[in-house]
Amino acid sequence: MRHSMLRKMLESEDRYFLYRHPETNECHIFIGKYSQWLRTCESPSPKSVCERVNLDLLIEPGEPEPEEIFACEEEQAARDKCATLGREVCGTCVSTLYATEKE
Ligand SMILES: [Zn+2]
Repeated sequence: MRHSMLRKMLESEDRYFLYRHPETNECHIFIGKYSQWLRTCESPSPKSVCERVNLDLLIEPGEPEPEEIFACEEEQAARDKCATLGREVCGTCVSTLYATEKE
C-alpha cells in the first residue's frame, strides 16, 4: 500500500536529549522529533520536560554553555543513560521516561 508507506515515512517519533545546567550541574531532559524521512533529529524543544530550564535563556555570551550529555536517543537508551547518571538527572524529567503512555 503506497499510501501507508508514505505516511510511515513522514512519521516522526520523540527522541530524548540530555543537557547539564552549567550552574546547578543538574541534567534535564529535552524532547526532539526524529524524522523517519530525513533519518535525523530536529533540535529539541528549548524547554526541559520539567519546564524549569529553558536552553534559549541559558545560552548567553560569555556564560558557560549547557553541556550536552546525549542527543537523539530512543526512550530505552535514554532510560539506561539516565540510570547511570543517577541523581545528577532531574527527578521530574526522569519520571517522564517511565510514564507509561498507552494509546
Ligand atoms: Zn528537569
